Amino acid sequence: MRKIIILTLIVFILFTSCKKNEEEKYERTDRTELKMDTVCTISVFTSKDASLLEEAFDLIDKYSRLIDMYDSSSEMAYVNENAYKGPVRLSDELFDLIRYAYSVTEYTNGAFNIAIGPLVRLWGIGTENAQIPSEKEIEKILELLNWREIVLDEENRTIEYLRPGMVIDLGAVGKGYVADKIASYLKSRGCTAAIINLGGNVYVIGNNREGKPWNIGIQNPDGSSGYFTTVQVSDGSVVTSGGYERNFTDSSGNLYHHILDCRTGFPSSSDLVSATIISSSSTLADMLSTACFVLGSADAASVVEHYGVGAILLTKDQRLIRIGV
Ligand code: AMP
Ligand code: MG
Repeated sequence: MRKIIILTLIVFILFTSCKKNEEEKYERTDRTELKMDTVCTISVFTSKDASLLEEAFDLIDKYSRLIDMYDSSSEMAYVNENAYKGPVRLSDELFDLIRYAYSVTEYTNGAFNIAIGPLVRLWGIGTENAQIPSEKEIEKILELLNWREIVLDEENRTIEYLRPGMVIDLGAVGKGYVADKIASYLKSRGCTAAIINLGGNVYVIGNNREGKPWNIGIQNPDGSSGYFTTVQVSDGSVVTSGGYERNFTDSSGNLYHHILDCRTGFPSSSDLVSATIISSSSTLADMLSTACFVLGSADAASVVEHYGVGAILLTKDQRLIRIGV
């Protein structure tokens, strides 16, 4: 069982002051719920239609049933239980998401790895069973993380795992994927200004009430409140990965966080404390923030350039690196 963890919001939306009459013109409706193990807030600025927010939250439930490997009734859980026995046919939506995530896994050479499930389960970070596994246990599990042993059949829309014990974990892409789905839904309903914040995975629609891009602050990774820098975005997504989000400390004070490196089997120990990606696709931003966090500042830059996204990286020695933003 996973513990419900209320993550501090990674990204703060900074509301600049404005004249009272402008504020009145700008209707704001929002709703917050605990979903996907985190605090989800959706704010809509151009419509008072309550059904809009209700349906947006229904989408979170709908897509969780598709992608959440911990929910035994989800399609992802079914695949993880059965794909080692032979090809399993997928819904178009799950096939497309897995194929996209597979391509990012290949390009980043497993820095972002969809096949990381067995290692995530072994460490159990964010659950009541969090533990430091033995070297031997890790060695055994590393054999199960080879994404090349996942076979995707484009024509028949099937997936097969060539090794029993393999598990796909979409934890590093799921919130981004759902944010994109909510954003397209809100846009299709005529919404021209909104903020979708799924535990710090942010998508903003349109501009702020002054007609300018939203001003988004990126949370200090040291646990203190406040932000270390800001980024201006209209119509796009800002996603941060950081080791401060979910972690535990052993009796000697060593910290173990939830972003794992498949090369070592241990929490990533790159030079970064925080990796933020800015992109029109929240799905992509989510995957790449995880990948860049694992790759570290030197290797992250070429991935960021390849995908044509923006990035804000903060190193352990407090160097702030901005790429394309
Ligand atoms: P994020 O917070 O988006 O960086 O995603 C972290 C979550 O994705 C973890 O809780 C794991 O479920 C999973 N995960 C951890 N390390 C990786 C990795 N290297 N590649 C893909 N998924 C990962
Ligand atoms: Mg991610």
